[in-house]
Amino acid sequence: MQKSWKRIKQNEKERRGEEGKEEKRREKGVLINQLICDPATTVMQEAQGSDHRAEHTAEHAFIGSLQKLLGQTLQVRKVEHNRSGNTAFIVLPQLDPDIVARAESDVNSLISEGRAIVEHSFQSMADAKQKFPNLRANEERITGQVRVIEIKGHDAAACAMQHANNLAECVFFLVTRISKSGSEYEVDFLTGDCAKQAAIDLSVKLLNVCREIGANVNTAENTARKLKAENESNFRKLKALTRERLEAIKAETVGADQNGNPLFQVYKGVFTNLADDTIREFTGEKIQNAGAVVILANLDDSTGRTSIVFARNEKSRGFDCASLLRGLGPMVKGGGKPNFVTGTAERQYAQQIVDVLSDAVSKTKTRLP
Ligand SMILES: [Zn+2]
Repeated sequence: MQKSWKRIKQNEKERRGEEGKEEKRREKGVLINQLICDPATTVMQEAQGSDHRAEHTAEHAFIGSLQKLLGQTLQVRKVEHNRSGNTAFIVLPQLDPDIVARAESDVNSLISEGRAIVEHSFQSMADAKQKFPNLRANEERITGQVRVIEIKGHDAAACAMQHANNLAECVFFLVTRISKSGSEYEVDFLTGDCAKQAAIDLSVKLLNVCREIGANVNTAENTARKLKAENESNFRKLKALTRERLEAIKAETVGADQNGNPLFQVYKGVFTNLADDTIREFTGEKIQNAGAVVILANLDDSTGRTSIVFARNEKSRGFDCASLLRGLGPMVKGGGKPNFVTGTAERQYAQQIVDVLSDAVSKTKTRLP
């Protein structure tokens, strides 16, 4: 049965529109991957009358494997089979991805073996439990006769849904995503041709990531960890360097009041490749002082853009930073509060912007309200 991956991707786009809220909720969790399959549509087209038997039965096998690995009976709150694939909601405080991977391998071994699925019927839950002591069942929902689905020698669960006759019908089982939501885990999975195509897609993504970070499949995780540590270390160094450069600025005293006292201390300058957030932090600290004015431009070599910060003490009323910035016209884009604005500009305007703002401040006659 050949399934169209293009069609699956198209369905994914449609699903994203319809289920945006669901997606946002899921994004909070640990993302392994978001590979989407549409068994509903493809199966209906290519095998009229088919349903989710294989996917549902694979879920039984998977939970059975997890139970064995964890040494406990699991509570599966619900299982969804829909246009975007399949999801099992497992009530569990902790689920290690390595355990999930081992369970995945187990399920695929059982599929290769072609384990038979056997249906049993019991008069009561007690009878069922006598035969299957580790029976998985939502006991509060079951009264009277109990239908038990057994994957021969592997798992037994009370279930009223339709199942495959043999695990071989699942063809291949792949977990595509694990996320934690409150007290439960959501595990997305695929079976059959969709699972095979998703596995190929995953391997392509991994190889692309390896190429981007200059690693091979064996070293990818270590390389990513190293790159992250290096990035954090370099950022710390840049912040320290930025702080050093800014602290070295000598304030320029401008203007005078009636008694001849200076009106403003202006901290200004044009810099290259400093850390913008450290500049904003420095500015926030400086303008705590009455009369302090900060006019800084920071050129970013990688983008060719310049960021501008222009601020004064909140109580100085002599000029409005936002109005003065607007007065620069299309040379700079930005805005903010009367005493603190930020903006961006093309690099060739950096010095000019600092000079014009500085000039406007020096012409201010008062800083009194
Ligand atoms: Zn079932």
